[in-house]
Amino acid sequence: MAAGGLTAPNSIKHADFVGEIRNHVSTFLLSKTITTTIMTPENQNADHLFGGLNVKYELDVPLAPFTWYGLGGPAKVMVHPSNKSDLSAVIKRCWQDQWPVYVLGSGANLLVADSGVDGVVIQLDDPEFKQVEFNPSHMTAGAGVDLPQLVLQTARAGLEGIECLSGIPATVGGAVRMNAGGVFGDIGKSIHQVQVMDDRGMVSWRHHDNLKFNYRKTNISELFILAAQFTLTPQDPQSVKARIKEIFQFKKKSQPLAANSCGCAFKNPLKVPADVPKSAGMLIDRAGLKGHQIGGAKVSDQHANFVIANDGASTSDVLALLEHIGEVVYKQFGIRLEREIVVWP
Ligand SMILES: Cc1cc2nc3c(=O)[nH]c(=O)nc-3n(C[C@H](O)[C@H](O)[C@H](O)COP(=O)(O)OP(=O)(O)OC[C@H]3O[C@@H](n4cnc5c(N)ncnc54)[C@H](O)[C@@H]3O)c2cc1C
Repeated sequence: MAAGGLTAPNSIKHADFVGEIRNHVSTFLLSKTITTTIMTPENQNADHLFGGLNVKYELDVPLAPFTWYGLGGPAKVMVHPSNKSDLSAVIKRCWQDQWPVYVLGSGANLLVADSGVDGVVIQLDDPEFKQVEFNPSHMTAGAGVDLPQLVLQTARAGLEGIECLSGIPATVGGAVRMNAGGVFGDIGKSIHQVQVMDDRGMVSWRHHDNLKFNYRKTNISELFILAAQFTLTPQDPQSVKARIKEIFQFKKKSQPLAANSCGCAFKNPLKVPADVPKSAGMLIDRAGLKGHQIGGAKVSDQHANFVIANDGASTSDVLALLEHIGEVVYKQFGIRLEREIVVWP
């Protein structure tokens, strides 16, 4: 990676508002289950898959603790590669043996089926994928870098351009994949180039000239985002921090950030008749669905586009509620809502 050997500072003093987001992350990371490998015919399958490779993997790993929803079943195989060449070797094997591969960021936009995923889940959480490098007008960050921390680090470095991402839980890889953002802008607008790896393990850089960032999507078709380089502008750190805080406060006032959710469940429709609300949240609200509940899944009372999971909720509850919302909104307004949440498998 062009980010060279620099690692992100490890003693980052969080501002309160980022601390709130991180507390949520720590809670689910602390509850991570450590699994042991028991030999069964299926395990031997995975042994065959990775035979001869120096790769650590775990079997039947519960995915719920890796997601902000805290829901869903296990991954058949989970791998945390130590570097790009390990990742490349794993990907080649998966491709040869036709194992489905799922890329996990911080799980802030993921809903995992109750039955889990029958494939290989790969998370780029090794320090190798968390490197950050600053220069006067650019910043390069690995896919595994925590976005809220990066937003603050960038302010401290006296650079502006990604304050609009304040309060969005994500890794850099997940944020680029989703073109994360909101009313203040999205990540795509400051991306200079993105390093990717395809499903055969080949690494390349994609320059912004051949990148497209649209509303919550990009034209990046490669399996992995490995790193992103941002174009930023020098600015007084205090004014960047003030802007970050302002945007976070705006978000906090309107969204139930502490609840188990994936943020907005649906994308805003791109074309709507003049007399129909333009945002998915407004459509759901006008359809009278605020507070509507199926099992442990509930439409937030604070923001109608947040479907939250209360104690005892299952992924099936959330999916049933999403479907119900879609039907009611369509019946009432003739608008088909598109899901923003990524559902595995
Ligand atoms: C409280 C809350 C508030 C939110 N607010 C916002 C908001 O304001 N704006 C917004 O846009 N989103 C918001 N979200 C949704 C979420 O934060 C974003 O979609 C974010 O980009 C997800 O990043 P992640 O790393 O958690 O990705 P994941 O949820 O882990 O994955 C999301 C998708 O990205 C893919 N992916 C992840 N990492 C990589 C990689 N390295 N390479 C290739 N593909 C990868 C996954 O396979 C999956 O398809 C919110 C979520 C929550 C829980």
